[in-house]
Amino acid sequence: MNNNLPVAIIGGGPVGLAAAAHLVQKKESFILFELGNQVGTNFLDYHHVRLFSPWKYNIDKAAKELLLKHEIPLPSENELPLGGEIVSQYLKPLSKLPEFKPHIHLNSKVISIGRKGLDKLKSNDREKIPFMIHVQEGSEYKMYEAKAVIDATGTWQNPNPIGSGGIHANGEKNVENQIYYGIPDVLNKDRKRYEGKTTLVVGGGHSAINALLELAKLQEQNENTKLVWALRKKKVSEAYGGKENDELPARGELGTRIQKLIQNGKILVHTPMFIHSVQKEANHKMSILGVKDDQNYSIREIDEIISNTGARPNFNMLREIRYASDPSTESVPDLAELIDPNIHSCGTVRPHGEKELRQPEDNFYIIGSKSYGRAPTFLLATGYEQARSVVAYITGDLESAKQVQLELPETGVCSISKSVNKESSNECCVADLSPEKSAVGCCG
Ligand SMILES: Cc1cc2nc3c(=O)[nH]c(=O)nc-3n(C[C@H](O)[C@H](O)[C@H](O)COP(=O)(O)OP(=O)(O)OC[C@H]3O[C@@H](n4cnc5c(N)ncnc54)[C@H](O)[C@@H]3O)c2cc1C
Repeated sequence: MNNNLPVAIIGGGPVGLAAAAHLVQKKESFILFELGNQVGTNFLDYHHVRLFSPWKYNIDKAAKELLLKHEIPLPSENELPLGGEIVSQYLKPLSKLPEFKPHIHLNSKVISIGRKGLDKLKSNDREKIPFMIHVQEGSEYKMYEAKAVIDATGTWQNPNPIGSGGIHANGEKNVENQIYYGIPDVLNKDRKRYEGKTTLVVGGGHSAINALLELAKLQEQNENTKLVWALRKKKVSEAYGGKENDELPARGELGTRIQKLIQNGKILVHTPMFIHSVQKEANHKMSILGVKDDQNYSIREIDEIISNTGARPNFNMLREIRYASDPSTESVPDLAELIDPNIHSCGTVRPHGEKELRQPEDNFYIIGSKSYGRAPTFLLATGYEQARSVVAYITGDLESAKQVQLELPETGVCSISKSVNKESSNECCVADLSPEKSAVGCCG
C-alpha cells in the first residue's frame, strides 16, 4: 500500500469532522467528501430544534484544541445549541481552518467504494491494495485513492416509513406530499402547512416529541391546529423518558412537557397503534388504518402526517466492501448487544472503540450514528470517542486506540444490564456509571 495516500472520510457531519480533527493531530493526511453544499447538512435539516445536550458534550476534544489554537471563540459550555448553531458556531468554523479547508470536498456524493482492481470476491493481498472512491461532484464523476476509509454518513437521510412492518404502509406512497419525514419548522418556514390543520405525528422518540412540542406552540396561536399522536409503545408514559431523573435536564424536560400537554387534552393519543395503510379521503383528508389492542382501528380526518419513526443506514455504496452489520439492528455487529432496543429499553452502552468497530475489510470503519444502525440512542460524545480510537489505530497508536474512555450523562430511565437487579429496572433510574458502562439517551 502506498502510505502517502490520504485517509478518506465520507460525511461532513460532526463525527466525520471529528475524525478529520484527530487525523490532523496525528499529522496524517485526509480527504473528506460531503454531499451537501456545506458541512453539517443533517443538522441544518433540523436547524430549529434545540439539542438536549449542552455544548460541553457536543464538541470533540481534538476539534476544540484546533479551534482554540486559531483563537476561534467557543460557545458557552452549559448552553443548549439549536441544530443550526451546531453548524454555524462549531462545524463551519472548524471546516474553514487551514488544516481542513483544502481537504474538504463539498457537493461530493460518494457513490461506491472498492479496492483498486480487486472485486469483493478476491482475497489475495487485499489489505495491501488502495481503496478507490467513486464520487459524484455535480454532473461530474471522479475517482480518488485512499489507504483507509471511514464511513460517517449517518442515517438521517434514510427515514423509516410509517408502516409498522418496516415497509411502506399500503397507500403511503400515494400521499407522500402530505407526509413530512423529519422535524418540520412549523413555527416559521413550514407554518402555512400546519396552521389550522389536523396533524398526525407518528413515532415514539425524541424527534416525535420535538415535532409535537413545536406544533403545540402553533396551537397556542391558532386553536384550530389539532395534534394527534400515534405510537407503538404500550403506554404513552413509556415515551416520557427519565424526566427529572435525567442527568441532561433538557432531555428530561421533553418528557415532562409532553406529559403536561397530554394531561391538558392538547394532544389526542392513539397507542399502541400499528399502522398498515393510509387512505386518501375527500377534501385532501387522510384516514390511517391499523391495529390497536388486536382490533382493527382507524384515525380519520388527518390533513398532514409527520413521520418520526427513526432512520436506517444506507449500505448501497459499500457493495464492493467486505462490511458486516447486525441482522436486526443493522449496527456494527459488536455494538448490537449494547444498543439493541429489544434488550435495553433506553440504552446502556459500554464505552467502545476501534476493536468493537473493526470490520472484515482491513482499514475500513463505520462510525457515528451509522454505526448504531437503526438504534435511536446515539450521542455525539460517543461518536467523538469512536473517531479518536479509530484514528489512533489507523495511525499506529495501538495503545491509545485501546484506551477508550467515555462518560455520558444518564437518561434516568430503566435499562437492562447484567449488573442491575431486573426487578428494579422497569420504572427506576438505574445508576450504572461503572467504568465499563455509561448510559445513553434516545434521539430517534
Ligand atoms: C433531532 C435530533 C436531535 C439530536 N439531539 C442530540 C443531542 O442533543 N445530543 C447528542 O449528543 N446527539 C443528538 N442527536 C444524535 C446525533 O448526535 C446526531 O444524529 C448527529 O448528527 C450524528 O452525527 P454523524 O456525524 O454520525 O452523522 P450526520 O450528522 O448525520 O452526518 C452525516 C453526513 O454525511 C453526509 N453524507 C451522507 N451520505 C453521503 C454520501 N454518500 N457521500 C457524502 N456525504 C454523505 C450527510 O450529508 C451528512 O452531512 C440528535 C439527533 C437528532 C435527529
